[in-house]
Amino acid sequence: MTATATLAPSAGALAPAAPLVDPFGRAISYLRVSVTDRCDFRCVYCMPEAMTFLPKAEVLSLEEIDRLASAFIRRGTRKLRLTGGEPLVRRGIIDLVQALGRHLKSGALDELTLTSNGSQMARHAEALFAAGVRRVNISLDTLDADKFAAITRWGRLSQVLDGIAAAKAAGLHVKLNMVALAGVNDTEVEAMLAYAARDGHDLVLIETMPLGEIGVDRVDHYLPLSRVRADLEQRWTLHDLPDNTGGPARYVRIGETGQRLGFITPLTHNFCESCNRVRLTATGQLYMCLGQDDVADLRRVVRASPDDTDLDAALTEAISRKPRGHDFVIDRRAAAPAVTRHMSVTGG
Ligand code: SAM
Ligand code: SF4
Repeated sequence: MTATATLAPSAGALAPAAPLVDPFGRAISYLRVSVTDRCDFRCVYCMPEAMTFLPKAEVLSLEEIDRLASAFIRRGTRKLRLTGGEPLVRRGIIDLVQALGRHLKSGALDELTLTSNGSQMARHAEALFAAGVRRVNISLDTLDADKFAAITRWGRLSQVLDGIAAAKAAGLHVKLNMVALAGVNDTEVEAMLAYAARDGHDLVLIETMPLGEIGVDRVDHYLPLSRVRADLEQRWTLHDLPDNTGGPARYVRIGETGQRLGFITPLTHNFCESCNRVRLTATGQLYMCLGQDDVADLRRVVRASPDDTDLDAALTEAISRKPRGHDFVIDRRAAAPAVTRHMSVTGG
């Protein structure tokens, strides 16, 4: 799509409207949007190799994504993260990022970011920076090329390392997301810390979440981050940091190196009380909680009328249903995933 013009609506600045606040008094200030369910990798913890993707007609157009994101921004969203699937494999993604960048310029949005597997980052890093993106999360579970190929099935480590280097060269701050997998990369945390420190990236460790059938047994690779932390504490001094982004990440500073390290522990740590976020799928379904199945169909509302009045009402109604918290469990008794959709649907 060569849709920069189509994607830049006449209304540059947004008239402020009533902020979205849920029944527990949490202001919704963070929206994650999955711009595609497709991906050029097949990470073992995320999707089966023979993943079935959605028919195109079900996926929101870039214009619809822009309209929905803009409606959220008008209602108080200050931070927008594009994810997927792999957001950088969506055709026209840079047009969308450029169009959304108008909300950064107007001051309505504080931050526009992306979570990416890095495979296409070398091609797009400069354009992302030019559009106003300043930080990206890039997934990297290992620095071992063979293990990388085994985890991602279709990925090549060198391509991703080039993407990370290109992001840095373009001026983007990189946060590395590393999913902790018992018996796979648990001995590599310090090597990743050293790599991240050398190149000035942050590192965040993620616990596996029970989302979607993936055709392998997650319990075998489930690694509680409390164990990783205890292991690190044998050699390093970890100082808890007060930073709280309203999400599940908790940060420490490593006393000896000054480096920041994040832990995303949805299973061992309850983060719901400060949850400020909602997630929109590539088909316009709004999940009010990553760990629950309740959903609001915003695509139907968007496609029913070009006027935003009904959309605004739908946002208010959806947020009134945001639950207090989630209910993830990984254990041997619960063989089925707690939530049936894949991570690539809600984008993590
Ligand atoms: N494709 C992009 C990427 O890999 O960064 C964005 C989408 S991906 C679904 C977002 C993040 O979710 C990645 O960091 C990935 O490692 C993580 N992820 C995927 N499946 C997961 C699972 N079952 N448990 C925990 N993290 C998962
Ligand atoms: Fe693709 Fe990201 Fe899922 Fe890996 S984690 S398969 S890169 S969407």
